[in-house]
Amino acid sequence: MIIDCHGHYTTAPRELEAYRQRQLAGLKDPAHIPAQGSLAISDDQIRESLEPAQLKFQRERGTDVTIFSPRASGMAHHVGDATTSRYWSEVCNELIHRVCTLYPDNFVGVCQLPQSPGVPPANCREELTRCVQQLGFVGCNLNPDPSGGRWTDPPLTDRWWYPLYEKMVELDVPAMVHVSASCNPNFHATGAHYLNADTTAFMQFLTSDLFKDFPTLKFIIPHGGGAVPYHWGRYRGLAQDLGRPPLRELLLNNVFFDTCVYHLPGIELLLKVVPVDNILFASEMVGAVKSIDPETGHYFDDTKRYIDAIGWLSAPDRRKIFDGNARRVYSRLKTSSAGSAATGRAAT
Ligand SMILES: [Zn+2]
Repeated sequence: MIIDCHGHYTTAPRELEAYRQRQLAGLKDPAHIPAQGSLAISDDQIRESLEPAQLKFQRERGTDVTIFSPRASGMAHHVGDATTSRYWSEVCNELIHRVCTLYPDNFVGVCQLPQSPGVPPANCREELTRCVQQLGFVGCNLNPDPSGGRWTDPPLTDRWWYPLYEKMVELDVPAMVHVSASCNPNFHATGAHYLNADTTAFMQFLTSDLFKDFPTLKFIIPHGGGAVPYHWGRYRGLAQDLGRPPLRELLLNNVFFDTCVYHLPGIELLLKVVPVDNILFASEMVGAVKSIDPETGHYFDDTKRYIDAIGWLSAPDRRKIFDGNARRVYSRLKTSSAGSAATGRAAT
C-alpha cells in the first residue's frame, strides 16, 4: 500500500472557478448579500476531471491512495471576510467529499479551513468538525498566514490558535501546515511563500512549548520541510543555544515532513537527516511543478521514483514512509492492503 499524503484537486471542473468568480464579483457590489449559492457539477464532470491526471498518475506511478484536499493556492483566505471564506471552504470541501465518494479506493479527504486574517481560528472549529464527522475527512490544511504573505496573525504557537488545536486533538486529526496564494510580490507562491512558511512554522515550533500543552497534536510540514532538513545542524544548534531540548525530544513526536522534494539528492538528504519515523510519502501532484525533468525524462513530481532509487533504505523503513507513518499520523485513515480506503470511525 502506498499512501500519498499530499494531493490537491487542481483539476476541478471550471464551474468551481466560475463559482469563485461570482463570489468575488459579489464582494465588489455594496448591495450584494453574501449567500452560499450553488455549484452545479455532475458526477461525470468529476470523473472526467480526475481520469487524465490524478487517476492516471496513480496507476502509472504505482501509488494507491491520495489524501486529497482543495487546491491550496485557491484557498486565498486573504480575500473577502470570514463569511466569504466560510462559503468558499464549504463548497470546496463538499466537492472533495464527492470525489472521495465516487472513488473511495483512491482518495481520502482533507479539508480547507474557513480562515480569515484577524479572525480567531476558533471560527474554524465548526467546519473542521463537520468535515471529519459528517464527510469522513482525516485532517485539515492549516494556513499559518491567512493574510497571504503579510504575516499579520500571531505565530502558530500563540494561544490564539489553541481553540482550533483543542478541536483537532478531540477529533484526533492532524493539520498540514499549508499557506495559500501570495499577495506579496516579494514571494512567489509555490517557489518562495510555500517554502518560507514551512521553514517558519518549524522555527515557531522549536521556540515554543506548544507540544507540552498539546502532547498529541500533529503537524505535517510539507514540501520536504522547506529549508529545515538542509539546515538541520542550524536548528539543532539554535535549540541548544536557546536552552531548548534536543529536536528529537522537543518536536519529533508531533512534527512530520513529507517527500515533496523534486530531485533525488534532496530526498537523499531528507532521509539522511530526518528520522524515518517522521517522513511521509507525498508528491503534491498535480500542479506544483507540472513539467518533466529533462535530466531524467520523468516528471519532477514523480517522487516515488526517488525513494525507489535509494538502495540503502531498508524494506521496513520504506514501508514506514509509504504507508505506516501516514497511518500513525492520520489516525482516522483506515486502508486495507487490498487497496480499499475508508475512514473507519467516520463511516460508523
Ligand atoms: Zn500542497
